[in-house]
Amino acid sequence: MTDAHLVLVSHDGEGHATGVVPADPDLAQLSVLDLAATRGDGVFETISVGAGHPQAFAAHLERFARSARMLDLPHPDEGVWGDAVHALAERLADHDEAWIKIVLARGVEGRSMPTGWGYGTVAPDYRRERTEGIEVVLLDRGLRSDVAATSPWLLAGAKTLSYAINRAALREAMRRGADDVVFVSSDGLLLEGPTSTLVIRRGTELVSPPPELGILPGTTQVDLFEAADEWGLTSAIEPLTPAGLASADAAWLVSSVRHAAPLRSVDGVARAVDGELSAAMNGFLRRRTH
Ligand code: PLP
Repeated sequence: MTDAHLVLVSHDGEGHATGVVPADPDLAQLSVLDLAATRGDGVFETISVGAGHPQAFAAHLERFARSARMLDLPHPDEGVWGDAVHALAERLADHDEAWIKIVLARGVEGRSMPTGWGYGTVAPDYRRERTEGIEVVLLDRGLRSDVAATSPWLLAGAKTLSYAINRAALREAMRRGADDVVFVSSDGLLLEGPTSTLVIRRGTELVSPPPELGILPGTTQVDLFEAADEWGLTSAIEPLTPAGLASADAAWLVSSVRHAAPLRSVDGVARAVDGELSAAMNGFLRRRTH
């Protein structure tokens, strides 16, 4: 038996969320005609849960609403989605680390009734990635760094269900003998990982690229930057280049469930892992209760 939990978030014909219903994760729940399945036409969030506490929950809900707006989906009701996440988190309270995925999709084509659900289960063991680090390759995303402004219909920076490209990039990383990817814009700026935000340390400053480059504003990065002074560090958001990554003192890909994974090589070139700061970051991220 899997330790997985599912709730369905019901909607009315006007697109408003009406309630949360527990459901069996081992039974089929989604129509084959749902645009979530046929076109990846929906948005999602993945929220880490530490001993029953959904982490950075307000930021995730805000980003869920932002993605929904970018896709002209109805605004996700904070009360109903909050009930869904808290119901799932309660059932995961026995685990130190778990995660919940919430999904809002356009629903069956022709009906104006969105589909919504939340699914939660125990997190994988990421101790190795957090301590030993990960190997990454830089991959050209093929989009300019001003794509969000020039071509908003490409939905750069929205958390949509269309993650096939992100998965393909990860497979390319595996083919090259690496674990993960840092995307680069066609005009040479570092962007993000397929499921994570890039953070570097330059001396006593943490730096991450700006969301205006058409990347997802990361909730983990924001929490880390707010805590930076605990570690005697300042923080800045500014464009970064591959040369800037090569000369950085340390670098991480940070995200909600894996937390802070230090980079131990970039395109096959070894780089130093800051073990002490990685441990401090991961300790802080695991203990978050807001
Ligand atoms: N960038 C992308 C493309 C992502 O998919 C994710 C998370 O899945 C992130 C960044 C990191 O966001 P967060 O820290 O909120 O998990």
